[in-house]
Parts: sequence; C-alpha cells; structure tokens
Amino acid sequence: MNHNTPFPNLAAPLQLKHNELKNRVIMGSMHTRLETLPNGNARLAKFYTERARGGVGLIITGGHSPNEQGLLEPDGPILNNKEQLKEHREITSAVHEAGAKICLQILHGGRYARLPENVAPSPIRSPINPVTPRELTVEEVDQTISDFVNCARLAEEAGYDGVEIMGSEGYLINQFTAARTNRRDDKWGGSLENRHRLPNEIIRAVRKETSPKFIVMYRISSLELVDNSATGEEIISLAKDVEHAGADIISTGVGWHEARIPTIAYMVPRGAWTFAPRRIKDAVSIPVVASNRLNTPATVEKILSDGDGDLVYLARPFLADPEFVNKALDNRADDINVCIGCNQACLDFIFRAKAATCLVNPRAGSELEIEITKAEHKKRIAVIGGGAAGMAAASLAAERGHDVTLYETSDRLGGQILLAREVPGKEEFNEMLRYYMRQLDTHNVNIQMNTRADLKTIETGKFDEIIIASGVHPRHPDIEGIDHPSVATYPDILSGRKRAGDKIAIIGMGGIGFDMAEFLAAPAINENGADPIERFLNEWGVDRGLSAPGGLSPDGPKHTPSARDITLLQRSATKPGRSLGVTTGWALMASLKMRGVKFANDLTYDHIDDDGLHINRDGKLELIPADTIIVCAGQESERSIINELKSLRLPIHIIGGAKEAGELDALRAISEAFHLAAKI
Ligand code: NAP
Ligand code: SF4
Repeated sequence: MNHNTPFPNLAAPLQLKHNELKNRVIMGSMHTRLETLPNGNARLAKFYTERARGGVGLIITGGHSPNEQGLLEPDGPILNNKEQLKEHREITSAVHEAGAKICLQILHGGRYARLPENVAPSPIRSPINPVTPRELTVEEVDQTISDFVNCARLAEEAGYDGVEIMGSEGYLINQFTAARTNRRDDKWGGSLENRHRLPNEIIRAVRKETSPKFIVMYRISSLELVDNSATGEEIISLAKDVEHAGADIISTGVGWHEARIPTIAYMVPRGAWTFAPRRIKDAVSIPVVASNRLNTPATVEKILSDGDGDLVYLARPFLADPEFVNKALDNRADDINVCIGCNQACLDFIFRAKAATCLVNPRAGSELEIEITKAEHKKRIAVIGGGAAGMAAASLAAERGHDVTLYETSDRLGGQILLAREVPGKEEFNEMLRYYMRQLDTHNVNIQMNTRADLKTIETGKFDEIIIASGVHPRHPDIEGIDHPSVATYPDILSGRKRAGDKIAIIGMGGIGFDMAEFLAAPAINENGADPIERFLNEWGVDRGLSAPGGLSPDGPKHTPSARDITLLQRSATKPGRSLGVTTGWALMASLKMRGVKFANDLTYDHIDDDGLHINRDGKLELIPADTIIVCAGQESERSIINELKSLRLPIHIIGGAKEAGELDALRAISEAFHLAAKI
C-alpha cells in the first residue's frame, strides 16, 4: 500500500469508544436482492468479502426487518430468530477474515412495506404504495421496540460488529418522527418529544441490551424533502437525542422515497447534500456520516477535509468497484470504475423485483459464479468498434492475457458515450470513458484509430477470433420531406455538427429524445458561472437553511424555462416517458415540464416543409412550427462489416448495438462485452 496517498483524510483511522475503524469509508446499506437468487447467502458472503478485501473499513448490510410486519416485501430479509444465525455467521466470519467490520441494518418498512397489509403510526397512505396502513396499537409499538432489541441481540450473536437502526428515508421510525405521517395523540405522537420517543427508546434499549463494544449507529434523515416533515431545528434536536440515547455514530440519509426531488440520480451534482450532515456534525460530538452522490475519492476527501462529515457512506460506488478504497489509498484513483449514478442496473432492477448488478460492472452480484482468470490459450483477437461494448470487451480480453487489437473508424474512442456525456447531468459518462481508456492502456491493447477494419486488415493481422462491436446508426424514418435542411439527427446536434434553432420538434420520445430535450432546454452546466450545486438546489426548491419543514423552499421549484420552444413527439398513444428508468425518468419528465417542453403522442407524421413538421392528430392535420426537426427515432445495427469477414471462416462474436439495436443501451452493450470477454 502506498502511504503517500493523495487522500490522507480518507485514509485516516477513526477511534470510536471501543472500536477503531480503519479508514473513513463505510460501504452503505444496499438492498441487492441477492438473497433471492440460488445460493443467496453464499453470494452475499462473497459480495461483501470482495468489498472487504477491497479495503473498506466498515460494511452495512441491506436492511433486515426485526419482525414480519416490517418486511419490505414478502420473503424479504428478516432477523428475528436463532435459526437464522447460521447463515449470518457465514457472512460475518467471511468479512472479518477479509479484514473489515460489518454491521446489520435494522429496517422496519412501516407504510412502505409492499405487503397485503402494512402498519404505520397513523393510517395515512403513502403516495408510492397503494396499501393504506393500519395504525399500530400501543402494545404493538412496545412490541416493535422489543423486536428491534431482539434483532440487535441476535445480530451480536451472529458476529456482527454492530447495527445501523434505519431512521431515515421515510421508513417506520421516520414515519413516527414526522408530523406528516404521525397524527397520534398518545405518548407516541403530537409533541416533538413524543414523536422522537420511538427512536430514543429503541436506541436506549438496544444500547442497554448489547455489549459496550457493539456499535450502535442511527441513520437520521438529515433533510426530508417532503411537506409537513422535520425542519432543520427538529433534525438537530433529534440528533442530540440520538447521541444522548447512546448511539456511537450518526449516519445520514437525504429525502423520503416519496420525495419529488431527485437525491441520488445522475442529475444530482456530486456532493450536493453535504450541507445537511454538516449541520448535524456541528451540533453533536459523535461521528457523523455524510452520504448521497459521493462517487470519487476526490469528492470524499473534500467532504472530510472541509469537515462536512467525519465519515462517508458510499453504496453504489461499491457495486461499481469493490476495490474503491484500496485503489484510492494506493494512488490508483484512475483505475477506479466510478458509479455514474444511472440507477439502471441497481435501483431500477430492485424496483422490478430483480437482483441488483451494475451497468459499469456486470460482475457485481455474480462474484460467486464469475471469476476473472487468465485465459488458458493466448489468442489474437480483433475488436471492431471503439464504443462502450468494444472498449469493455477489448480491455477485459487483454486483461486476461489475450493479444488484442481494437479498430475504430473515427478519430475518437467512445461511440455513443461521447454523445451521452453532452447531456446536462450525464457528465459522469466522462468517468466511464476515462476508466476504459485507462484499462486499454494498462492492458496494452493495440488501438488502431481512423481505421476501418476490412477483410485485408483482418487477414493481415492473423487473428484467431473477431469481436464485432460496430454499434448503431440513427434510424432514418420514412417521412415526406425527411431530407429537408431543417432536419438533423441526434448525433448531429449532440456532437455540435449542426446547431439547433429556436423552434424544435423532436421525432421520437425514447431515452434519447428525452435527453435531447434536456440538452436543448436546460442551461449549460457552467452557464453564467453558476455553481452547479446551488443551481440544482434552487431549481428543485431546496432551502439550505432548512427553515421550513422538509427543507423545502417556500417558493417551490424554479426550473429555468427553456429559451427554445420544444415539442417532443411519438406516434404511439403510450404515456410519454414510459420507456425511461423507473427511478430517474420521473425527475427528467418533471424537469422538462417545468421548463415548458411540450409532449405530443397518438399521432402520425405527415410531412416536413419550410414551416415545420405536419402531423395528423385526432383526424386533423396540424402544424408543429419548427426551424429544427431532430430525429431521435431509435437506431439500426451497423453490421456492414460482417458479410465482408465471413469468408475468413474465423469465429465471429457480435455484441452491443451491432447485434441488436432495439432496446440497446450501455447496460446491455457492456454486459454482453463482459460476459464474452470473461470466457473467450
Ligand atoms: P427508443 O427508446 O427505442 O425510442 C425510439 C423512439 O422513436 C420511440 O419514441 C418511437 O416512438 C420512435 N420511433 C421508432 N421508430 C420510428 C419511426 N420509424 N419513425 C418515427 N419514430 C419512430 O430508442 P432511443 O431513444 O434511441 O434509445 C435507445 C436506447 O437507449 C433505449 O433502450 C433507451 O432506453 C436507452 N436510453 C435511455 C435513456 C434514459 O433512460 N434516460 C437515455 C438514452 C438512451 P413511436 O414508435 O411511438 O413513434
Ligand atoms: Fe452506479 Fe449505475 Fe452501477 Fe447503479 S448501475 S451502481 S447507478 S453505475
């Protein structure tokens, strides 16, 4: 390990009363659903162990319910009896052997539980769950406290170093602390003191019933982002109570799940929320953990050196790269595969009841069955196409010992990534590009730029196998006037080859149509020198001072209206935005609506002329006045090279957009590249 690390604060150990944490990074709790897959427990053990070996000091498990009522979904993780200890010991001993500590998160879902019946302080339905909860009786509240204590005791018996009690994000305890969800008039509701009683009693009882060295963390909502919830003062008062009740560490969360402000998606600038834990850190003397949209060692180091947190909580970055900490401490930050905040393979999968993996690291969650090993026979491999799929396949094949040549027809590697990164908020795609460039270099891939690999090139190269990753080209829809000078493709606009005018019609309302609308409607990230974090908070109506409940500004969201008149169109009658990611699409849709972008569906395209785009809707011919018509109508595979190479009779593998253009995204492209290169 290089001790001349550029991240000295990240590397510094932290002394708790009875424990030492070896560095300042906590792997935050993630619900991965790995336990639902065959060999679930062994998978989880391997998943955590690799992160422990990767240098993280403390790992927090996904949430475990302390009783049946609190399960997030039927058969979700629960720890409530001794019979479950054996499988937990498998995890704790593996993590300890790998040199890290591990705490179990205790999470009671309350009204967020996706069960036929759920419970809450008061019978108020959440906007994100159709079930109206039943009010907990006084006896049931007492029983819930006992269940938290029982769970913590079992956790200690199972070898966990501590527990994190989940009091944020709008789950049961948070439902008790907020007036929004707590209308009780007994000792558990009404006054602030009564609303804070549940977390206080749980922490006190857990502290009392576990050994002094057992770590008790409490996760507090540092900012709630929903109406009729805690003000800044109330949060500080709760944090002080939590400290008094005996917690060792306060970890923090931002926003309830039902909040209509994005908190961790790609459009949230890195480190946007650190002002919230900072307020808590200044008010208590136990360590406070900062969280949300922290994805690089530099961001972490800045938070620690600015004093916004004593520790940081990274969750998704450990899906993206198990070795985040070791690489940072070993002065290899450039080798880190950075989480780009897309949510596509983690949260979006969880919402669709699938196990989580990661767009940039398809091995995440499959550590048990996929090992990256040296190839048995070194082969000469040609990879045709330098987009995401080609770069991913070339770098992994070369890492495994193959002799790889990557051919790219243009003068830049990146393919669709070069376009995606131009979209406001999608700058994180630069990290993906940086990572692959670095991997290609490290593993000595022979890169041939400005080279169209033809039959002769491949023949001369004496290759054993060929990987075709030649990508896609934009679909050219059959509309009268499609060759009019006002028509542009999305690569024309995103690459800057053509400039958009003031009146825009976008043909196609898939992910790329939406991205195009955001690109044209949102002010550029550094426009007028505005600080991206300030601008984000202003646009979404967040008050840093937390003077009003939820930290919501009294003026509400203030998205800068688009300077252009933009209409997004699709032929089908499906609801606009249906194809977008579950956990990010709503925010993009909300942002565009606030900027004044218009949506038109259930129509056919008639023709294009100097006046704009003529459509048929409701049996009438209508004009969408436009000086620029941008085609975002999907893509077609670029496979012209395949026939040419067939005569060579070499094994040809086709991946990414070249294989299938429909529903193509970086997730599928990288996953196909990974699975091929891991075994070729
Ligand atoms: P897409 O999602 O397939 O959308 C294509 C759009 O074009 C649809 O709205 C479709 O609507 C329209 N269309 C299809 N054929 C047409 C034709 N012949 N004439 C006119 N319109 C036509 O493709 P995409 O937007 O290019 O996105 C590609 C992939 O990248 C997708 O898998 C997408 O999920 C992913 N992506 C996602 C995001 C995100 O979630 N933020 C961002 C970028 C890309 P109608 O057929 O109804 O007209
Ligand atoms: Fe991050 Fe996207 Fe991977 Fe999730 S899928 S961990 S958001 S890069």
